[in-house]
Amino acid sequence: MDKIIIENLEIIAEHGVFKEEKFLGQKFIISIEMLTDTREAGKTENLEASTHYGFVADDIEKLFTSKSFDLIETCAEKIAEMILTKYHLISEVKITVKKPWAPIRKHFDFVAVEITRKWHTAYLSLGSNMGDKKKNLLDAIEKINNLENTKVTSKSTILETEPFGYTEQDWFLNACIEIKTLFTPQELLEKLLSIELYMGRERIIKWGPRIIDLDILFFDDEIIQDKNLCVPHPWICERMFVLEPLCEIAPNLVHPLERKPISTLKRMLERELEK
Ligand code: ADP
Ligand code: MG
Repeated sequence: MDKIIIENLEIIAEHGVFKEEKFLGQKFIISIEMLTDTREAGKTENLEASTHYGFVADDIEKLFTSKSFDLIETCAEKIAEMILTKYHLISEVKITVKKPWAPIRKHFDFVAVEITRKWHTAYLSLGSNMGDKKKNLLDAIEKINNLENTKVTSKSTILETEPFGYTEQDWFLNACIEIKTLFTPQELLEKLLSIELYMGRERIIKWGPRIIDLDILFFDDEIIQDKNLCVPHPWICERMFVLEPLCEIAPNLVHPLERKPISTLKRMLERELEK
Protein backbone atom coordinates (compact mmCIF):
# COMPACT_ATOMS: atom_id res chain seq x y z
CA MET A 1 0.00 0.00 0.00
CA ASP A 2 1.20 3.56 -0.71
CA LYS A 3 2.05 5.90 2.15
CA ILE A 4 1.92 9.60 2.90
CA ILE A 5 4.55 10.45 5.48
CA ILE A 6 4.94 13.47 7.72
CA GLU A 7 8.29 13.18 9.48
CA ASN A 8 9.28 15.03 12.65
CA LEU A 9 6.52 17.61 12.99
CA GLU A 10 7.57 19.77 15.97
CA ILE A 11 4.93 21.15 18.33
CA ILE A 12 5.32 22.84 21.71
CA ALA A 13 2.54 21.54 23.98
CA GLU A 14 1.68 20.80 27.60
CA HIS A 15 1.40 17.03 27.97
CA GLY A 16 2.94 15.15 30.88
CA VAL A 17 2.37 13.67 34.30
CA PHE A 18 4.18 16.43 36.23
CA LYS A 19 2.47 19.73 36.90
CA GLU A 20 5.52 21.67 35.61
CA GLU A 21 5.08 19.95 32.24
CA LYS A 22 1.46 21.10 32.10
CA PHE A 23 2.54 24.64 33.00
CA LEU A 24 5.82 25.20 31.12
CA GLY A 25 5.19 23.11 28.04
CA GLN A 26 7.83 21.26 26.06
CA LYS A 27 8.72 20.06 22.60
CA PHE A 28 7.06 17.03 21.01
CA ILE A 29 8.16 15.59 17.69
CA ILE A 30 5.50 13.67 15.80
CA SER A 31 5.89 11.39 12.81
CA ILE A 32 2.95 10.02 10.87
CA GLU A 33 2.71 7.32 8.21
CA MET A 34 -0.68 7.09 6.52
CA LEU A 35 -1.52 4.08 4.35
CA THR A 36 -3.62 5.10 1.38
CA ASP A 37 -3.85 4.51 -2.33
CA THR A 38 -2.17 7.48 -4.08
CA ARG A 39 -2.40 6.00 -7.59
CA GLU A 40 -5.39 8.02 -8.83
CA ALA A 41 -4.07 11.32 -7.47
CA GLY A 42 -0.66 10.50 -8.91
CA LYS A 43 -2.13 9.86 -12.36
CA THR A 44 -4.64 12.74 -12.46
CA GLU A 45 -3.06 15.47 -10.27
CA ASN A 46 -6.38 15.58 -8.41
CA LEU A 47 -5.81 16.26 -4.71
CA GLU A 48 -9.44 15.30 -3.99
CA ALA A 49 -8.35 11.71 -4.67
CA SER A 50 -5.71 11.94 -1.94
CA THR A 51 -5.22 13.36 1.56
CA HIS A 52 -3.81 16.87 2.06
CA TYR A 53 -0.83 16.52 4.45
CA GLY A 54 -1.14 20.22 5.32
CA PHE A 55 -4.67 19.73 6.68
CA VAL A 56 -3.55 16.66 8.62
CA ALA A 57 -0.64 18.58 10.16
CA ASP A 58 -2.98 21.49 11.09
CA ASP A 59 -5.43 19.09 12.73
CA ILE A 60 -2.67 17.41 14.72
CA GLU A 61 -1.44 20.78 15.93
CA LYS A 62 -4.99 21.79 16.95
CA LEU A 63 -5.59 18.50 18.78
CA PHE A 64 -2.19 18.65 20.43
CA THR A 65 -2.43 22.20 21.71
CA SER A 66 -6.13 22.35 22.66
CA LYS A 67 -5.88 19.73 25.44
CA SER A 68 -3.34 18.44 27.91
CA PHE A 69 -2.81 14.69 28.26
CA ASP A 70 -0.72 12.95 30.92
CA LEU A 71 0.76 10.30 28.65
CA ILE A 72 2.37 10.28 25.22
CA GLU A 73 0.51 6.97 24.77
CA THR A 74 -2.74 8.97 24.91
CA CYS A 75 -1.33 11.62 22.55
CA ALA A 76 -0.52 8.94 19.97
CA GLU A 77 -3.92 7.23 20.39
CA LYS A 78 -5.83 10.52 19.93
CA ILE A 79 -3.88 11.42 16.79
CA ALA A 80 -4.48 7.97 15.26
CA GLU A 81 -8.20 8.11 16.02
CA MET A 82 -8.56 11.66 14.63
CA ILE A 83 -6.84 10.76 11.34
CA LEU A 84 -8.73 7.48 10.82
CA THR A 85 -12.13 9.00 11.57
CA LYS A 86 -11.68 12.29 9.70
CA TYR A 87 -9.67 11.28 6.62
CA HIS A 88 -11.63 8.52 4.94
CA LEU A 89 -9.01 7.53 2.39
CA ILE A 90 -6.60 6.47 5.14
CA SER A 91 -6.91 2.80 6.10
CA GLU A 92 -4.04 2.54 8.57
CA VAL A 93 -1.72 4.90 10.44
CA LYS A 94 1.58 4.62 12.24
CA ILE A 95 2.12 7.38 14.79
CA THR A 96 5.34 8.14 16.65
CA VAL A 97 5.31 10.72 19.42
CA LYS A 98 8.80 11.66 20.62
CA LYS A 99 9.54 13.66 23.72
CA PRO A 100 13.14 14.94 23.67
CA TRP A 101 13.00 16.95 26.90
CA ALA A 102 11.48 14.36 29.25
CA PRO A 103 11.91 15.63 32.82
CA ILE A 104 13.97 12.84 34.38
CA ARG A 105 17.60 12.98 35.52
CA LYS A 106 19.04 10.89 32.72
CA HIS A 107 20.37 11.70 29.33
CA PHE A 108 18.83 10.29 26.18
CA ASP A 109 17.97 11.77 22.79
CA PHE A 110 14.27 11.22 23.21
CA VAL A 111 11.65 8.89 24.61
CA ALA A 112 8.94 7.83 22.16
CA VAL A 113 5.75 5.84 21.71
CA GLU A 114 4.98 4.27 18.34
CA ILE A 115 1.58 2.77 17.54
CA THR A 116 -0.13 1.35 14.48
CA ARG A 117 -3.91 1.59 14.22
CA LYS A 118 -6.28 0.66 11.42
CA TRP A 119 -9.87 0.10 10.42
CA HIS A 120 -10.80 -3.54 11.00
CA THR A 121 -13.47 -5.52 9.20
CA ALA A 122 -15.43 -7.95 11.33
CA TYR A 123 -18.35 -10.27 10.61
CA LEU A 124 -20.90 -10.88 13.33
CA SER A 125 -23.68 -13.40 13.70
CA LEU A 126 -26.93 -12.37 15.42
CA GLY A 127 -29.64 -14.66 16.75
CA SER A 128 -32.84 -14.34 18.76
CA ASN A 129 -35.60 -16.77 19.75
CA MET A 130 -37.45 -14.94 22.51
CA GLY A 131 -39.89 -12.03 22.52
CA ASP A 132 -40.18 -9.85 19.44
CA LYS A 133 -37.30 -11.58 17.64
CA LYS A 134 -37.15 -9.33 14.59
CA LYS A 135 -37.16 -6.20 16.75
CA ASN A 136 -34.41 -7.69 18.92
CA LEU A 137 -32.18 -8.23 15.87
CA LEU A 138 -32.88 -4.75 14.49
CA ASP A 139 -32.31 -3.14 17.91
CA ALA A 140 -29.00 -4.96 18.29
CA ILE A 141 -27.86 -3.88 14.80
CA GLU A 142 -28.71 -0.27 15.68
CA LYS A 143 -26.83 -0.50 18.97
CA ILE A 144 -23.77 -1.95 17.20
CA ASN A 145 -23.94 0.82 14.59
CA ASN A 146 -24.02 3.39 17.41
CA LEU A 147 -20.89 2.03 19.11
CA GLU A 148 -17.98 4.46 19.13
CA ASN A 149 -15.92 4.35 15.90
CA THR A 150 -17.94 1.43 14.52
CA LYS A 151 -20.22 1.27 11.47
CA VAL A 152 -22.42 -1.50 10.13
CA THR A 153 -21.42 -1.70 6.46
CA SER A 154 -23.49 -4.67 5.26
CA LYS A 155 -26.52 -6.66 6.48
CA SER A 156 -27.89 -10.01 5.40
CA THR A 157 -31.60 -10.72 5.27
CA ILE A 158 -33.18 -12.21 8.39
CA LEU A 159 -33.63 -15.98 8.25
CA GLU A 160 -35.83 -18.25 10.33
CA THR A 161 -34.03 -21.37 11.54
CA GLU A 162 -34.60 -24.44 13.69
CA PRO A 163 -33.00 -24.48 17.15
CA PHE A 164 -29.53 -26.06 17.35
CA GLY A 165 -28.20 -28.05 20.32
CA TYR A 166 -31.01 -27.65 22.86
CA THR A 167 -34.06 -28.31 20.64
CA GLU A 168 -36.93 -27.87 23.16
CA GLN A 169 -37.24 -24.19 22.31
CA ASP A 170 -38.76 -21.74 19.87
CA TRP A 171 -37.37 -21.23 16.33
CA PHE A 172 -34.68 -18.63 15.82
CA LEU A 173 -34.28 -15.58 13.66
CA ASN A 174 -30.67 -15.23 12.48
CA ALA A 175 -28.69 -12.67 10.51
CA CYS A 176 -25.10 -11.67 9.79
CA ILE A 177 -23.58 -8.23 9.50
CA GLU A 178 -20.29 -6.75 8.38
CA ILE A 179 -18.84 -3.94 10.46
CA LYS A 180 -15.85 -1.60 10.25
CA THR A 181 -14.40 -0.78 13.64
CA LEU A 182 -11.41 0.70 15.43
CA PHE A 183 -11.96 -1.60 18.44
CA THR A 184 -9.63 -4.50 19.19
CA PRO A 185 -11.24 -7.99 19.15
CA GLN A 186 -11.39 -8.05 23.00
CA GLU A 187 -12.92 -4.58 23.15
CA LEU A 188 -15.49 -5.55 20.53
CA LEU A 189 -16.41 -8.72 22.46
CA GLU A 190 -16.85 -6.66 25.64
CA LYS A 191 -19.15 -4.21 23.81
CA LEU A 192 -21.23 -7.04 22.32
CA LEU A 193 -21.59 -8.78 25.70
CA SER A 194 -22.74 -5.53 27.26
CA ILE A 195 -25.33 -5.02 24.49
CA GLU A 196 -26.56 -8.60 25.17
CA LEU A 197 -26.79 -7.83 28.89
CA TYR A 198 -28.48 -4.46 28.33
CA MET A 199 -31.07 -6.15 26.11
CA GLY A 200 -31.83 -8.61 28.92
CA ARG A 201 -29.87 -11.70 27.93
CA GLU A 202 -29.60 -14.33 30.65
CA ARG A 203 -27.40 -17.41 30.32
CA ILE A 204 -29.35 -20.28 31.88
CA ILE A 205 -29.14 -23.24 29.48
CA LYS A 206 -26.16 -23.69 27.10
CA TRP A 207 -27.45 -23.01 23.59
CA GLY A 208 -30.83 -22.32 25.26
CA PRO A 209 -33.44 -19.60 24.58
CA ARG A 210 -32.06 -16.10 24.22
CA ILE A 211 -33.32 -12.60 23.55
CA ILE A 212 -30.13 -11.89 21.65
CA ASP A 213 -26.89 -13.69 20.86
CA LEU A 214 -24.04 -11.73 19.28
CA ASP A 215 -20.99 -13.67 18.11
CA ILE A 216 -17.81 -12.57 16.38
CA LEU A 217 -17.34 -14.82 13.34
CA PHE A 218 -14.25 -13.17 11.80
CA PHE A 219 -12.03 -10.25 12.71
CA ASP A 220 -9.89 -9.36 9.68
CA ASP A 221 -8.00 -12.59 9.07
CA GLU A 222 -6.90 -12.87 12.67
CA ILE A 223 -6.69 -16.18 14.48
CA ILE A 224 -7.34 -15.79 18.20
CA GLN A 225 -7.41 -18.54 20.83
CA ASP A 226 -7.93 -16.71 24.11
CA LYS A 227 -9.72 -18.10 27.15
CA ASN A 228 -12.80 -15.97 26.46
CA LEU A 229 -12.52 -15.41 22.71
CA CYS A 230 -12.10 -17.75 19.79
CA VAL A 231 -11.87 -16.27 16.29
CA PRO A 232 -12.77 -17.43 13.68
CA HIS A 233 -15.82 -18.61 15.62
CA PRO A 234 -15.31 -22.40 16.02
CA TRP A 235 -18.72 -23.57 14.74
CA ILE A 236 -19.03 -21.61 11.50
CA CYS A 237 -18.59 -24.63 9.20
CA GLU A 238 -21.24 -26.72 11.00
CA ARG A 239 -23.95 -24.07 11.20
CA MET A 240 -26.17 -23.38 8.21
CA PHE A 241 -27.80 -20.55 10.16
CA VAL A 242 -24.40 -18.80 10.06
CA LEU A 243 -23.20 -19.82 6.59
CA GLU A 244 -26.45 -18.94 4.80
CA PRO A 245 -26.72 -15.28 5.86
CA LEU A 246 -22.92 -14.87 5.79
CA CYS A 247 -22.85 -16.14 2.20
CA GLU A 248 -25.31 -13.38 1.23
CA ILE A 249 -22.92 -10.62 2.32
CA ALA A 250 -19.48 -12.23 1.94
CA PRO A 251 -19.50 -15.24 -0.42
CA ASN A 252 -15.85 -14.73 -1.39
CA LEU A 253 -14.47 -14.15 2.09
CA VAL A 254 -11.81 -16.78 2.77
CA HIS A 255 -11.91 -18.59 6.13
CA PRO A 256 -8.35 -18.07 7.45
CA LEU A 257 -8.10 -21.60 8.92
CA GLU A 258 -10.11 -23.62 6.36
CA ARG A 259 -8.59 -21.56 3.50
CA LYS A 260 -11.84 -21.82 1.57
CA PRO A 261 -14.40 -19.15 0.66
CA ILE A 262 -17.70 -18.99 2.54
CA SER A 263 -19.65 -20.04 -0.58
CA THR A 264 -17.61 -23.27 -0.76
CA LEU A 265 -18.03 -23.98 2.97
CA LYS A 266 -21.78 -23.52 2.56
CA ARG A 267 -21.90 -25.91 -0.41
CA MET A 268 -19.87 -28.47 1.56
CA LEU A 269 -22.27 -28.28 4.51
CA GLU A 270 -25.29 -28.56 2.19
CA ARG A 271 -23.83 -31.80 0.77
CA GLU A 272 -23.10 -33.05 4.29
CA LEU A 273 -26.69 -32.38 5.39
CA GLU A 274 -28.14 -34.14 2.30
CA LYS A 275 -26.43 -37.42 3.29
P1 ADP B 1 -23.01 -19.31 22.35
O1 ADP B 1 -22.80 -18.08 21.51
O2 ADP B 1 -22.07 -20.44 22.00
O3 ADP B 1 -24.43 -19.73 22.43
P2 ADP B 1 -22.73 -17.55 24.61
O4 ADP B 1 -23.33 -16.50 23.75
O5 ADP B 1 -23.38 -17.84 25.93
O6 ADP B 1 -22.58 -18.91 23.85
O7 ADP B 1 -21.20 -17.13 24.83
C1 ADP B 1 -20.44 -17.60 25.84
C2 ADP B 1 -19.02 -17.03 25.79
O8 ADP B 1 -18.40 -17.37 24.56
C3 ADP B 1 -18.89 -15.51 25.79
O9 ADP B 1 -18.92 -15.00 27.11
C4 ADP B 1 -17.52 -15.28 25.14
O10 ADP B 1 -16.51 -15.00 26.10
C5 ADP B 1 -17.21 -16.61 24.50
N1 ADP B 1 -16.74 -16.51 23.12
C6 ADP B 1 -15.65 -17.16 22.62
N2 ADP B 1 -15.47 -16.87 21.33
C7 ADP B 1 -16.46 -16.00 20.98
C8 ADP B 1 -16.77 -15.34 19.76
N3 ADP B 1 -16.04 -15.53 18.65
N4 ADP B 1 -17.86 -14.51 19.74
C9 ADP B 1 -18.61 -14.34 20.88
N5 ADP B 1 -18.35 -14.95 22.06
C10 ADP B 1 -17.28 -15.77 22.13
MG1 MG C 1 -22.72 -16.00 21.85
